[in-house]
Amino acid sequence: MVSIVAVHSTARGPSLGGCRLWRYDDTRSAVRDALRLSRAMTYKSAVAGLPLGGGKGVIMAPEASVLARRGMRRALLLDFADTVDALGGAYVGAEDVGTSARDMHVIAEGTRHVAGLSRRRGGSGDPSPWTALGVETAIRVACARVFGSPELDGRTVAVAGLGSVGARLATACARAGAALLVSDIDPAKRDLADQLGARWLAPDALLAAPADVFAPCALGGVLDHHTVPRVGARIVAGAANNQLADDDLAERLRDRGVLWAPDFVVNAGGIINIAVELEPEGYDPRRARTRVREIGDTLGRILDAAAATGATPLAAATDLASRRLATAT
Ligand code: NAD
Repeated sequence: MVSIVAVHSTARGPSLGGCRLWRYDDTRSAVRDALRLSRAMTYKSAVAGLPLGGGKGVIMAPEASVLARRGMRRALLLDFADTVDALGGAYVGAEDVGTSARDMHVIAEGTRHVAGLSRRRGGSGDPSPWTALGVETAIRVACARVFGSPELDGRTVAVAGLGSVGARLATACARAGAALLVSDIDPAKRDLADQLGARWLAPDALLAAPADVFAPCALGGVLDHHTVPRVGARIVAGAANNQLADDDLAERLRDRGVLWAPDFVVNAGGIINIAVELEPEGYDPRRARTRVREIGDTLGRILDAAAATGATPLAAATDLASRRLATAT
């Protein structure tokens, strides 16, 4: 059993970050993932103005047949809880890829330093609807900049990945009157696409489709040196973490006239919602909604700063995070 917790920064308070249960080839790649993701969490929290540092937990999953054995998942989660508890509150775990609110309840048996519990247990529940709300808010701000209006009615939005976040985002965009293009590697998602009246495309075709907005809501690294020249939309804003394979691609996107809204700004809705759980007053969905909507103001300020200095939105967002971290130390 291997549980890894990377705490990148506690400069602004305890480091809140998801606990990922994932298959890795070896411990080195799991550590690398935890380090990379904990750094991203620091920037995400700082840009969102949360009083938190950044961390990430990783549980190395055994192969599926072993994980399915009776008691195995519980044993992995309790082992992770021990690691978290040993850090004495420097890291607070929450749901992430491969874990759920139910898993957080098991972790809570071994440590009190856990968030993202279900609403029934006084927690904030599934973060995905909040992440989707933040992405929709960011898309509207980007549309206002590029097309002069935040309205989605009549816009074409391409959603890559109809998972927990993408399905909700696609539904919200369809309700707001957008024409939808969608893709997923799971053919079972076609039913939802049909219900939403969306056009189903292969993932590669979706990226190049002449949409107004491309929303990557699947895995990271979708924007690389091969795909950036092929992006068909004027705006890229989505939930996926680490969308850029290389930071210099932010300049390539800007030079192509594509507004790329930095992922760690756009997809902070889930962590903002969980952070409300840690406030002294306890969790309140109305406060969470107000905070998540503030992603729009934050993105607006970042785009203003980028426009004023000629920097990319990535550089402007990183600068904002760095300034906030510098004043917190
Ligand atoms: P999910 O696992 O529920 O959904 C991902 C979907 O993408 C699945 O339906 C999967 O089949 C599909 N997919 C995988 N590869 C694909 C490809 N190449 N092309 C098209 N579809 C593909 O995950 P999620 O919770 O919806 O999260 C989506 C992304 O957003 C992830 O990168 C996650 O790290 C990030 N994110 C999620 C949250 C959250 O609150 N859930 C918060 C912040 C960031």
